Amino acid sequence: MSLLVVGSLGIDTIETPFGKVENVLGGSATYISTAASYFVTPIRLVGVVGGDFTEEYIDFLESREIDMEGMQIVKEGKTFRWGGRYHYDLNIRDTLFTDLNVFEHFNPVIPPAYRKTSCVCLGNIDPVLQLRVLEQIEKPKLVVGDTMNFWIKGKNAELKKTLKFVDVLVLNETEARQLTEEPNLVKAARGIMKLGPRIVIIKKGEHGALMLTENTVFSAPAYPLENIYDPTGAGDSFAGGFIGYLAKTDDFSDDSLKRAVIYGSTMASFCVERFSLDRLKDLTYLEIQDRFREFKELSKFEEEVKV
Ligand code: AMP
Repeated sequence: MSLLVVGSLGIDTIETPFGKVENVLGGSATYISTAASYFVTPIRLVGVVGGDFTEEYIDFLESREIDMEGMQIVKEGKTFRWGGRYHYDLNIRDTLFTDLNVFEHFNPVIPPAYRKTSCVCLGNIDPVLQLRVLEQIEKPKLVVGDTMNFWIKGKNAELKKTLKFVDVLVLNETEARQLTEEPNLVKAARGIMKLGPRIVIIKKGEHGALMLTENTVFSAPAYPLENIYDPTGAGDSFAGGFIGYLAKTDDFSDDSLKRAVIYGSTMASFCVERFSLDRLKDLTYLEIQDRFREFKELSKFEEEVKV
């Protein structure tokens, strides 16, 4: 099935306890589409960049078979820039700066060839823009949405309006609590379902992910990595692996959704092994399958046999 991704394309500056990188490729749409490109291609990408978005970045996206007909280049403008610093507890990060730049006046225009797209992933951008994208797509079969504290706080009413049209909301635990003002995550997920999404996935960083549907509660572990260098983009890579798998299989049953959560976790676990998109650049199908299977082993156990 076809997959359209909208979100930020950015240039990041990141500090973690293990190093610092400046002006590296980032952005929610970049991570989502790169992760998803291991499952379906081409990915339809909608976003905006400035004149400072280098050829090298464009070549990289093209190498992953990401179709950029929907990408606007504002030559005289600057690309979205974001800076973050992680603590020793990598689940905690401070945003150092968010320069929206060309995003401030971005008006997403969906090319006619993209209007009939089956799966849509709304990466983390202004919820007003997310809705504007959806309005231009004819009855998508599946809409996955992501958001973050910046928008929950800054555009709460707009976000709630967009959520009415989202099937699956993916957000982290702090954001889930913030959005619902509910400390218990299961209750928070149920509260989010009342806002529109029928499926809620709460990411818990190195503690895995929790998915709630109408009929199931599914808890996925996180892969116990020994070396995590940069958690940036883990959530987006999760969303990309999740929707990429569903778009590939066209199966939205609870069992398939659970597998999609594990593929999402698999892509997130690769993402954090290096800075920026360095690890996601050239994975192999075998590496992905091996890790997917390791996830299964992680929480498999046998009941005691009573004689
Ligand atoms: P994640 O670590 O999954 O939350 O995603 C990090 C990516 O999101 C970075 O590469 C940033 O460029 C991008 N990002 C950070 N803040 C925002 C924002 N307010 N709007 C859109 N994208 C953002």
